[in-house]
Amino acid sequence: VIAVRDLAKTYRLGGKTNVYALRGVSLDVYPGEFVAVMGPSGSGKSTFMNLIGCLDRPTSGEYWLAGKLVSRLSSDELAIMRNRLIGFVFQGFNLLGRSTAIQNVGLPMVYAGIPKHIRELRARKLLQLVGLGARMNHKPSELSGGQQQRVAIARALSNGPSLLLADEPTGNLDSRTSIEIMAVMQALNEQGLTIVLVTHEPDIANYAKRQVVFRDGRLIRDEPVLQPNSAKDEWMALVQSTNEDE
Ligand code: ATP
Ligand code: MG
Repeated sequence: VIAVRDLAKTYRLGGKTNVYALRGVSLDVYPGEFVAVMGPSGSGKSTFMNLIGCLDRPTSGEYWLAGKLVSRLSSDELAIMRNRLIGFVFQGFNLLGRSTAIQNVGLPMVYAGIPKHIRELRARKLLQLVGLGARMNHKPSELSGGQQQRVAIARALSNGPSLLLADEPTGNLDSRTSIEIMAVMQALNEQGLTIVLVTHEPDIANYAKRQVVFRDGRLIRDEPVLQPNSAKDEWMALVQSTNEDE
């Protein structure tokens, strides 16, 4: 899906100081992979995600997305590629507070010009997929953190992307709710969705199939997870032990 060669990003502050956020990163991600991106604060993880998500352009280096060299694309072409191929999930959910779950999920399809009845059908299906079939008409304030994040995941999937980019999706969630979200991610990955997920929690990274580590704008480690933990199994065990407590 993506091929990154020697990607670098320098931020200029006030025309004087340079911040070298990425110093030459190369990485290939193939269809069906589930990659966890780790590394200390300020190591360039979000900068990297913004570049592969086509939200920003690199200072140097090459980025191939679905076989196309991104630097050769115009802004319009880039926006089309992004909307068609990539779904985003962030730490802060970023849902519209006045809209219901189903409206939030349908919104990207409004921009894509998809007719209303198809939007509703698809949004309904996606909410069912993330286990929120019974919460379609709830507003974000009427949902738990984990439920809000699941709405955000459903929204990210609404244009049928082949790549899901998640920057600290469990950063605002307790560990139990994080497992719930990771179970959703693993299920989506099993259905073929490619996922790149930033986290600073080793436990979360162990649900992925591959881990890469950034430090000071460089990729210093890249290794497979031989036996990823199963979030679904852990979630079932949690539910069971809670029932026994009662
Ligand atoms: P965290 O774990 O805290 O989210 P990160 O690994 O995501 O950190 P980045 O946000 O990629 O780190 O930042 C990398 C470096 O680039 C940092 O030194 C940061 O201060 C700098 N930086 C990020 N965005 C900008 C910007 N828009 N302008 C200037 N400097 C920036
Ligand atoms: Mg970050």
